[in-house]
Amino acid sequence: NLPASAGIIKLLSERTINRIAAGEVVERPASAVKELVENSIDAGATRIDVVVWDGGRDLIQVTDDGCGMSADELTLAVERHATSKLTDEDLVNIGSLGFRGEALASIGSVAKLSILSRAGDSEEAWIVRVEGGKKQPPEPAAFGGGTRIEVRDLFYATPARLKFLKTARTEYGQISDTLKRLAMAHPEVSFSLSDGTRTTFKAPHVAGLEADPRLERLSVVLGRDFRENAVEIKADREGLQLTGFAGLPTFSRGNAQHQYLFVNGRPVKDKLLSGAVRGAYQDYLARDRYPLLALFLDVPPAFVDVNVHPAKAEVRFRDAGLVRGLIVSALRHALADAGHRASTTVAG
Ligand code: ADP
Ligand code: MG
Repeated sequence: NLPASAGIIKLLSERTINRIAAGEVVERPASAVKELVENSIDAGATRIDVVVWDGGRDLIQVTDDGCGMSADELTLAVERHATSKLTDEDLVNIGSLGFRGEALASIGSVAKLSILSRAGDSEEAWIVRVEGGKKQPPEPAAFGGGTRIEVRDLFYATPARLKFLKTARTEYGQISDTLKRLAMAHPEVSFSLSDGTRTTFKAPHVAGLEADPRLERLSVVLGRDFRENAVEIKADREGLQLTGFAGLPTFSRGNAQHQYLFVNGRPVKDKLLSGAVRGAYQDYLARDRYPLLALFLDVPPAFVDVNVHPAKAEVRFRDAGLVRGLIVSALRHALADAGHRASTTVAG
């Protein structure tokens, strides 16, 4: 009782392939924002402004002052597996945030996408539109410079996915969290997020005079208190470098949401890393308390595989034990030092 089509193997259409890929790359509005903002960062932007209506369902707009795109580049940018960031030879040496060349094609297949852009060396701006996978050729437009991408009616072409979205408030919260993580990793870029009526997050340029731009940016995102309640982390081992700031045990939280971990500038949610953090704090914190921290691990590109997951949130290390050891010992030392300082201050 096989269906009539059984046994007939066919290649899927490009539109169908893109929609399937979109399911992996663009899980929800926050993942679209992540892809777009990462593209802006890769484009060398110094300023990125995000506007979101209705939790990203009605509109996601990302404007940057990066390198922009020519008409030809715009045509290519919305094609699947078209990227300016990777050559076939260097999949092991990934330096940019993007590399799969599928974000724009995926978003364009499940939403109404428009990209307005002017390349730095050009007088002309162009706009390209894609709706539910249907691509229009670029048209001349007016724009100051950089790129503005608008995503309207996200998931209108995939109603099943649309149904799974949470309330606008929840989706907006996820978007905000995503943007904050990227802002922590990139103090050289200014960021803003608006819900259409007001700016809910703003991370201005960190002035050149600031002694530690990263700490300044972290205290903008995590709150001024963080500065007074964190210790600096700086350690390296066999080519791996760990930097950042770790909250004192007295500054802990009731959930693990405030642990910000980055690998080569990329925000990650990784069990190995959060497990190492847990291990380092276990003598200092009750089981239901979690430290507030931002840790940046920098490793040679060939030491880490960021190609494990389409959204690039998970990573795989060549030597997990080495990573864990570095994190646990660096945090323990810093916390022990801080504890020592605290007790001598009290005694003195
Ligand atoms: P990837 O980032 O993996 O290369 P994307 O689909 O996200 O793939 O983007 C495709 C290409 O479009 C990029 O490689 C880049 O050349 C171009 N692009 C995307 N966004 C921007 C932007 N904001 N500014 C300049 N170029 C961009
Ligand atoms: Mg990209």
